[in-house]
Amino acid sequence: MRAPAPGFTTRFAPAPTGALHLGHAVNALWVWGLARRFEGRVLLRIEDHDRGRCRPAYEQGILDDLDWLGLVPDGLTTRDFRAGPVPQRQSDNTARYEMRLAELEARGLVYGCRCSRAEIALVTNAHEGLELVYPGTCRGQGSGVRDQVGRRVLMKRDAPERFDDLRLGPQSQDPMAQCGDLLVRDRNGQWTYQFAVTVDDWEQGIDLVIRGEDLLASTGRQLRLAQLLGRTTPPAFLHHPLLRHPDGRKLSKSSDDTGLAELRAAGWTPARVLGLAAQLSGLQPDPTPCAPAGIADLFAAV
Ligand SMILES: [Zn+2]
Repeated sequence: MRAPAPGFTTRFAPAPTGALHLGHAVNALWVWGLARRFEGRVLLRIEDHDRGRCRPAYEQGILDDLDWLGLVPDGLTTRDFRAGPVPQRQSDNTARYEMRLAELEARGLVYGCRCSRAEIALVTNAHEGLELVYPGTCRGQGSGVRDQVGRRVLMKRDAPERFDDLRLGPQSQDPMAQCGDLLVRDRNGQWTYQFAVTVDDWEQGIDLVIRGEDLLASTGRQLRLAQLLGRTTPPAFLHHPLLRHPDGRKLSKSSDDTGLAELRAAGWTPARVLGLAAQLSGLQPDPTPCAPAGIADLFAAV
């Protein structure tokens, strides 16, 4: 693993669609551990772009769990976050997403799409479990029609996206082969994850994204989208191992037995949770407890 440039700005960005679990603790450990090792800043972003699945109670639970773990975002405390204005919440950024989309539209890079997921799957003969590649059915229809129409961005470029992941090394991804023209707003008016995080990362000045390997395939398209939006200095990326059971199975996100609130209720300490998270993501050979104040030491060899 290569060391990030000291003084970076990164983010912890949970979605309030459920309670934090051990997988989130792994991500938080890598985010705060690297930030403390390399004098970085951690911003908190509540990724609630999908309004239908988000619940205020989950957001409250996320803040409580972070407080308990002893991992406090920079620039504001979680208590301030609760009381004051919350620019780091995606649902407060709608006007900014509108503005960015309008800029892309003005440059002829956006078109309306009426296709449902089922229609795309049918047309492309997609196999279950594989990512859908949008075949460009509605390309050329322009961006004039508004109601019940999704918005896609023309992603085609001559070369693949290349980036050098700090942990995984050089990567090359072709968004056109992976997903086709990217949906930025769906037919119900919801902003997509890919568009919202790309705008947020730019506008919040995130220059290092630290996240799990399950999002590695999203990186090329986010880099391309950032270029199209006008970001001239792309962020660096570090994708860390996903949490696995000691026997190698990937943990389910809905796995009740790994909820942080349940572990806390069962008498676990933050150090015990962080120590297990460190073991299960390859940072130490056993689950030796690790106090929040000591997590930078897990990255001493970087
Ligand atoms: Zn379409």
